Amino acid sequence: MEAFDYSPLAGRVVFGSGTIARLADEVAALGCSQAFVLSDPHHAAGAALRARDVLGNRAVGLSTQAAMHTPVEVTENVLREVLRAQADCLVSLGGGSTIGLGKALALRTDLPQVAIPTTYAGSEATPILGQTEHGRKTTIRTTKVLPESIIYDVDLTLGLPARLSVVSGLNAIAHAVEALYAKDANPVTSMLAERGIAAIAHALPRIVRDGRDVSARSDALFGAWASGNCLGTVGMSLHHKLCHVLGGSFDLPHAETHAVILSHAAAYNAAAAADALERVARVLGADSAAGGLFDLASELGAPTALRDLGLDESKLDEAARIAVATPYWNPRPIDEVAIRLLLDDAFHGRRPQH
Ligand code: NAD
Repeated sequence: MEAFDYSPLAGRVVFGSGTIARLADEVAALGCSQAFVLSDPHHAAGAALRARDVLGNRAVGLSTQAAMHTPVEVTENVLREVLRAQADCLVSLGGGSTIGLGKALALRTDLPQVAIPTTYAGSEATPILGQTEHGRKTTIRTTKVLPESIIYDVDLTLGLPARLSVVSGLNAIAHAVEALYAKDANPVTSMLAERGIAAIAHALPRIVRDGRDVSARSDALFGAWASGNCLGTVGMSLHHKLCHVLGGSFDLPHAETHAVILSHAAAYNAAAAADALERVARVLGADSAAGGLFDLASELGAPTALRDLGLDESKLDEAARIAVATPYWNPRPIDEVAIRLLLDDAFHGRRPQH
């Protein structure tokens, strides 16, 4: 065993079916009695009301305004409601957008959070917050935004549509793949990364066949936690940089962009991170990580070409320039010509060769 550093994240996890019933106890365990419930329009008439009902007189407010990329205007509106309600904790029920709103409010108020994720994005397990203001997305990392408690209720994910499940699951796999070749990779995170990739990759085909397969949904949700934990504990590289550029500067959809880019980022790093990517290939039962990831996305019906996500081919030069201007650390040095070729392959949806 080589030397390593590892800083675990403090956060409680409750995992199972029907666990939303334990929400009031989780709030009480935080020493709180005035919870403000956050969610998105999709859950407004269903699970968000259920959370409020479970809380009973421990609920002091509900907002279902969460929006993609955590716009600061939305946060400031909801902040006023939270302060008016004299809430002493936040309950965020929804996908990464709702969890992001909870984190943005925690940053401003220091209120503790209970997160109840309904997708596989994994934000609930990270001390990272991305926010958008005047069209610019900025990211900060502080344990102030890490939820104190996560309730994973498999039942809340049974209705997540197949396409959303697939792209969200591939988004989670991307966290785990990059964790394996991170500069600060360590054996604990790498173990979680392999388990996360295996759980999600094996669950997604079953979910596509039957979205109400509780066993497959449980595996995927466990994988989402494992992969989110990876994102929270080690640094991300080229894949996440490219996705941030394509989402932030060209407004491409978050999870779909991850689905397209992942196999190409793996191909770019194939030689420089050979051991890590062999582990990915082994978990997928494929000859190479890049080929296996591309085939997984195709077989699941996920988008595999940037041109199908609304990107204009004339923007590829600019995307490559932005991506190399302030690169994240990456196992293989970042080279503009090679990145431009990568983007060309991703634009046309070509299967990577490595
Ligand atoms: P999202 O929360 O916007 O959800 C996508 C869509 O799915 C929404 O329309 C939502 O209403 C719907 N939805 C959610 N759960 C559902 C369910 N169970 N059934 C049916 N529909 C459901 O998107 P996301 O992909 O979960 O998260 C993406 C956002 O999270 C991005 O803004 C991204 O930057 C952020 N994110 C942050 C981190 C972090 O660590 N900070 C990590 C991953 C993602």
